[in-house]
Amino acid sequence: MTVLLLDLDRTLVDVQSFTDYERALADLRERFGELPGAATPETYWRPATVRAMAVLVALIGDARWQEASDLIESHEMAAVVSSTAMAGLGSFLEATRNMPKAVVTLMGPSAARATLDRHGIGADGLVGRRADLRPKPAADQLLAGALLLDVEPAACVMVGDSTWDRDAARAAGMRFVGVGRADFEDDTLVADDLGGVVELLRN
Ligand SMILES: [Mg+2]
Repeated sequence: MTVLLLDLDRTLVDVQSFTDYERALADLRERFGELPGAATPETYWRPATVRAMAVLVALIGDARWQEASDLIESHEMAAVVSSTAMAGLGSFLEATRNMPKAVVTLMGPSAARATLDRHGIGADGLVGRRADLRPKPAADQLLAGALLLDVEPAACVMVGDSTWDRDAARAAGMRFVGVGRADFEDDTLVADDLGGVVELLRN
């Protein structure tokens, strides 16, 4: 049985393109002053998105994390209404309807839930970013997803658009399928779109 862990943003739905992470960073600087950074994987997201996510990676375990996350999430929530389904979402969900699945996302949990509801995405579980889990590219969120579905990590296939997802899957001991060619240069298994993911899952 294939068990799916699915990234959300730019994998199932594009929220990032409508999220004002530039403004979120400005808000963070206004609230906290100089922001901490973290070494994170090279990815194709725009710089403000990477920077905002790196702040959350850097602040994990810090008392400021939740406030920083909530501040960023207010901008993610504002983007949900404009968000667009990625190509092939409907047929992907239909083709995988019998596969247990959890959405594992760097988005805040409320914005992620609102995105799933808006696009009619049914999942057996949702792991948004939380203060007690190191965010992707660490393994924690994916392992929490496997636990939620009551399966071993090795039973899971993580699907995502970014090297952050890929590195998290590697750290968690899971297989990985990339979506879109933008981020993957090595021997990663990559599909052009969600239809291609279905083909790869069949093989
Ligand atoms: Mg993504």
